[in-house]
Amino acid sequence: MSEGPLAGIDLDAVAATPGAWLELSVAADHEAVEAVSEILARAAPGGTSVEPAFELVDEGLAARVDLARPAVVRAHLPIIDLPAVRAAWARAERELGHLQAFGLRPIGDLAARVVHEADWANAWKAHFPVLRVGRRIVIRPTWRRHKRRPDDIVLALDPGMAFGTGLHPTTRLCLAALEALADRGLLAAGGRNGAPARVLDVGSGSGILSIAAARLGAREVLAVDVDPIAVDATTANARRNRLARVVRAREGSAPSGEGPFDVVLANLIASLLVSLADDLVADLRPGGVLLASGIFENREADVVEAFHARGLEVAGRWAEGDWVALELQRPV
Ligand code: SAH
Repeated sequence: MSEGPLAGIDLDAVAATPGAWLELSVAADHEAVEAVSEILARAAPGGTSVEPAFELVDEGLAARVDLARPAVVRAHLPIIDLPAVRAAWARAERELGHLQAFGLRPIGDLAARVVHEADWANAWKAHFPVLRVGRRIVIRPTWRRHKRRPDDIVLALDPGMAFGTGLHPTTRLCLAALEALADRGLLAAGGRNGAPARVLDVGSGSGILSIAAARLGAREVLAVDVDPIAVDATTANARRNRLARVVRAREGSAPSGEGPFDVVLANLIASLLVSLADDLVADLRPGGVLLASGIFENREADVVEAFHARGLEVAGRWAEGDWVALELQRPV
């Protein structure tokens, strides 16, 4: 492997400074983001971040994701073991080349710069603006201020480990669908005898959907996740939004054993939705609604079939890029 500068950076000189990291970045069309993230994650196992392109709204006070423009995928690796850094770079370049050969949308060139830990602890926060989703939902990173409008449903979130950066399209679709349920009164008065709904969030991650459901009027939200880090993140985020009494998080999955629920949220992947279909339906009361998300378009038919077979009907559909979310209604 060649010595000498890497992307114009004199690694030997940089390696002498403690706390220096190499930031790899690639601009990628949103359809290529996942594949590019996987490649960078192999080069820098500490994980990747995705910064979608934003358009500023509200006179620059907030931002909305702009899917028409490429996102930037980033990963960081410590500049300690220079041969390892060079190998990771070469591998990422090679794999990105293969990806381009697949004919996915064009992706940018692999770029690198040096960042220092000392500047870095807070610098990443600049990548998270206040985000508007749908009509009323506002995601506010905890360190940012937001001047709310009267109708705004503001969710304060600390991205943390279970959130990643930005919002995944499948999460945005779920939030849009939740807002639509709320508009039809299904959260504030969609429970038994017109009481506020009881909601189950299967695979709660950061808790974003649980918190949104609570803010939109649900009376009680049970958040379950198989990952204890997600359970902790959901608990912390619920507390941060003063919803600790409404949102309860614990390790688990469907069936929760605490049903039936008026609304079940499941932002999982298609294969999990299919394999968990019986359990998700078991948690849903007759007449209740399941929001199923994380469905890649070419798997939509399988998901619909699995729930049709259990008597549910498609009552709504949201799509963004290749992703689909479905509202499935259990007959009364
Ligand atoms: N609801 C969040 C997170 C979705 S990511 C959002 O919409 O942004 C999917 C989550 O499901 C992850 O946190 C993962 O740990 C969890 N998960 C994966 N398999 C699961 C299963 N079988 N049961 C419950 N949760 C699961």
